[in-house]
Amino acid sequence: MRWSMGVEIGTTRTLIRLKTDEGLEGIGETYGGEPTGRAVEFAKPFLIGMDPTEARLVVNKLQSFRVSYESNIPLYVVAGIEMACWDVAGKMWGRPVASLLGGATRTEIPFAAYLFYRYKNENGIGGEDSAEAILDRCEALVERHGFKVVKLKGGVLPPQEELRTIKLLRERFPEPCLLRFDPNAAWSVETSVRLLPRMAEYDLEYGEDPTWNLEGMSLVRRDVPLPLATNMCVISFDQIPSAVRLRAIDIILADVHYWGGFLNNLRLGAVCETFQLGLGMHSDRELGVSTAAMLHLAAAMPYMVHAADSHYHDQVDDIITEPFRYHDGCFRLPDGPGLGVTLDEGKVEKYHRYYLEKGSVIEFLDPYRPSWIPNLPIF
Ligand code: MG
Repeated sequence: MRWSMGVEIGTTRTLIRLKTDEGLEGIGETYGGEPTGRAVEFAKPFLIGMDPTEARLVVNKLQSFRVSYESNIPLYVVAGIEMACWDVAGKMWGRPVASLLGGATRTEIPFAAYLFYRYKNENGIGGEDSAEAILDRCEALVERHGFKVVKLKGGVLPPQEELRTIKLLRERFPEPCLLRFDPNAAWSVETSVRLLPRMAEYDLEYGEDPTWNLEGMSLVRRDVPLPLATNMCVISFDQIPSAVRLRAIDIILADVHYWGGFLNNLRLGAVCETFQLGLGMHSDRELGVSTAAMLHLAAAMPYMVHAADSHYHDQVDDIITEPFRYHDGCFRLPDGPGLGVTLDEGKVEKYHRYYLEKGSVIEFLDPYRPSWIPNLPIF
């Protein structure tokens, strides 16, 4: 799957098992690879003796390491540990996580049909390199899963072709289908100012990170009548005041992992509501445990009116016993205790062995564009 910074050929995830002295086990999931493993090992001794039903205390303790010059526990690791705490607390009390977060305000969580210009894989799947090919792909996804929202991952083909893709999508999927476009900051301010107004004519729900950083986004927002969303220039609380002052964005994407877990995301929701910023939800190739966490969070965050993103429909397998299935573009909130999902231990073992053989997926390498440098506007 192509994006502005490289190619996603899979996902590497870390599962965190939190065991209590009463014999319960909570599961958390977060980004994978060596740094995660090291951070979890670092966190371990600080967790011994804590009460997993007191997630705020656990998060505070782990987050306190962030004030030092060397941050030993990234927020996405704090999030994975906190996820395991909530899972255990739910199992202990026989309640779903959403109930513990204040209650599920909804049980069907809508998702967007996430569309990528893909390279063809070894099985001949993919190969969308034109507007027409994306249209075919979108038709298949909408037919199969019932999506009501469509998201195009851009920043891959020339901007005019991506504009044409949006045009074809809108013609084929008229309102009330919502359309969103995300080139991951690959467009310059000039290209954004020139082409986004034309995209806006197709009534986009929002443009996501057309260009880089708060200054760039605010320049674009000033001239383009289109709500702008971000999961790139506002990814921590300290960036929100500047974003508000600059009027750089309209919508912030929540994320179970990089915002630092359930409690921090609920806090983000409150901040967005206060400043009348919209709230959506970012995806980073989650497996079933994190997907369940996203559902519990979304259910407990009624202010999140935008459909969540997910890579789930592009993933060929999962490590839970009952993988999620879309109904009318929605996933149903699990109603079992905790996160409500169970690990398929055979699958966990299989993919752990695969990781030991192959290592982490690196999503910043594009074999067809070896000389390409990420993080510069390419158009
Ligand atoms: Mg994005």
